[in-house]
Amino acid sequence: EWLDEAEKALIARREKVLGPAYRLFYEKPLHLVRGEGVFLYDAKGEKYLDAYNNVASLGHCHPRVVEAITRQTAVLNTHTRYLHEGIVDYAETLTATFPEALSQAMFTCTGSEANDLAVRIARFVTGGTGIIATDLAYHGLTNAVAEFSPSLGESVTLGPHVRTVAAPDSYRFSPGEMREKFGRDVRAAIADLRRHGIKPAMLITDTIFSSDGIFAGPKGFLKPAVDAIHEAGGLFVADEVQPGFGRTGEAMWGFERHGVAPDMVTIGKPMGNGYPMAGIVLRPEVIADFGPRARYFNTFGGNPIAAAAGKAVLDTIRIEGLQHNALEVGRYLMEGLKTLSDTYPAIGDVRGSGLFIGVEIVADAAAKRPDSTLTTRIVNGLRERRILISATGPNANILKIRPPLVFSRENADMLVEALGDVLKTI
Ligand code: PMP
Repeated sequence: EWLDEAEKALIARREKVLGPAYRLFYEKPLHLVRGEGVFLYDAKGEKYLDAYNNVASLGHCHPRVVEAITRQTAVLNTHTRYLHEGIVDYAETLTATFPEALSQAMFTCTGSEANDLAVRIARFVTGGTGIIATDLAYHGLTNAVAEFSPSLGESVTLGPHVRTVAAPDSYRFSPGEMREKFGRDVRAAIADLRRHGIKPAMLITDTIFSSDGIFAGPKGFLKPAVDAIHEAGGLFVADEVQPGFGRTGEAMWGFERHGVAPDMVTIGKPMGNGYPMAGIVLRPEVIADFGPRARYFNTFGGNPIAAAAGKAVLDTIRIEGLQHNALEVGRYLMEGLKTLSDTYPAIGDVRGSGLFIGVEIVADAAAKRPDSTLTTRIVNGLRERRILISATGPNANILKIRPPLVFSRENADMLVEALGDVLKTI
């Protein structure tokens, strides 16, 4: 029996009070009570290697962030309509990590709100309403954002002003085709919007296509699409909620790998290492007119505690060299996974950048036929071996490996070894 009586009772209470919208990971749900660094601990004291949670990007309960939040909580917490050094210091430190043109920041509490605000700004600035996103994108939960988040499936209807384009699949298209295809598809979407009398407002993409299946390369494939939306008078919004804050190793921000210039960048998840905070970094021209007229206010966004948490996160990334670690350990881990694919043909493709890695599981390597059943068994098999990952992509057949950035070579070895063991057993 894998669940004890207390856990069964907790599940029953949970279902009764939280209702049917809440789901649990795994065939055998995890009851976690504590986290430290790359490890999570369950109620029985068992230790799990976390290779999935990108919010705790510095490692769970990082002492510098805990200290910053604790200290500020005891001193002051108000909103942004009083003068305070915290938000200014933080915004200066944050924007300094971006290319010079992206020099202003606005703060929210969630990535959804950041994308919601981006839509409002883009529509105000361009006078258009049309939005282009990818086929399986997720950009958040508000109504405006859910309308261009097709990964929500039948639970939402895409807006009439929304067009989706296929995410560029680097496993099925050659690098040459990759460089052409996405730009061509975006141009076609723009033409279709126009045919329906809709003026394009923005193209939005997650710059590593997290929910579409993780497509990191070839670098630069985003550029023709960004050029297309700019020529059409629309803005490019880079959703860095998942790839941002050094995770891709080669750059602090995922869009930098593609050499493109976003008009707005939305950020969140690891921004406070668990403290809920998000925001937009943008070119000042974009909000010059919108800003004074919008009456924008966010009660909790950018409060002194958020600013302290965010500053501690940026300081830690720099002090601990976490972007470099993501690059170095990411390469090492990808090599280990590729070596494993020599033995196990079910591993069709290993791809990614830094510590954002996708492993595509296939039933037939030559035909590249997705095997979602095997993928589910692998994810659960790793959970049995106390290693946490998940799956993504249109067929949920791509292992999503996205550990805290403090992941070490030793942690990578543990993951590769356990994956080999699961594949051997299955
Ligand atoms: N954009 C992307 C790419 C995301 O992955 C998510 C969250 N999964 C969001 C936006 C929304 O962020 P939040 O859950 O903080 O609202």
